Amino acid sequence: MTGTLYVVATPIGNLGDMVPRAVEILQTVALIAAEDTRHSGRLLKHLNIDTPMTPYHDRGDQRQSARILGALAKGEDVALISDAGTPLISDPGYKLVRDARQCGYTVSPIPGPCAAIAALSAAGLPSDRFAFEGFLPAKSGERRKRLETLLVEQRTLIFYEAPHRILDTLTDIGEVLNVQNNEAQRNIVLARELSKTFETFLSGSAAELLEILHADPNQQRGEFVLMIEGAPKQTQNAEDADVEKVLTTLVADLPLKQAVALAAKITGVNKNSLYQRGLELKARS
Ligand code: SAM
Repeated sequence: MTGTLYVVATPIGNLGDMVPRAVEILQTVALIAAEDTRHSGRLLKHLNIDTPMTPYHDRGDQRQSARILGALAKGEDVALISDAGTPLISDPGYKLVRDARQCGYTVSPIPGPCAAIAALSAAGLPSDRFAFEGFLPAKSGERRKRLETLLVEQRTLIFYEAPHRILDTLTDIGEVLNVQNNEAQRNIVLARELSKTFETFLSGSAAELLEILHADPNQQRGEFVLMIEGAPKQTQNAEDADVEKVLTTLVADLPLKQAVALAAKITGVNKNSLYQRGLELKARS
């Protein structure tokens, strides 16, 4: 009989959000695999739990996962936790869960807090279809390129962002998604410090949000989930969107002439009509 790997969500700020089943699992497993044992030690102390811990990170050395898989092989149950929220969601755990499943062990989630879902649930943006994009690249050039790939995405977009990048990211969003797409300003919602004392929801265009954040530096502090309303349906038909996608991808890596020629071949669209758009994309890359 082998053990079970429990993937346990922990609070994203408010310790009162720890669900009773998660507490019970952390008390009864043989081992807790934690992203940062010192950080999680504080939560366990608060909960009066003294289950042994072991560090786990997807980029950690092989011995970390060997220890955990070894415990499961011996029939011991293990709980995986991260610093906050649901493990694997912009947090370590993917490789461990994949390996545990490949070995045939049972993997079971203990659902609980997740910043992306908490933010979306209260944002007032369409929630029937959404795309979680995690963290945008830290460098502006790469960030803008990533945003360009999302120009025609109609689902609500959800990002995590760090406080020291929030102004730069909003600036890039304003320029790439709103202005260059030449469409009405899209609604953006910033969810800050969810479940904590200074929880705040702000909404508006990128320019409006930048104005609020510049006027009150306190609004630049803490943890953020940034959500963007999806692209309007009538902006482009599917065919135009495909052409735009192909051209954007090629322009990023090839000289303009070659990119346009190749895009024309792939899409069947006339070279000359692609050239101007290619020029605009090249200027931004
Ligand atoms: N696994 C976590 C989850 O389930 O949400 C996310 C971990 S990720 C490393 C941390 C990021 O999540 C933060 O930089 C922030 O963007 C977002 N986040 C976490 N807690 C938050 C909170 N209380 N309020 C707003 N955003 C939060």
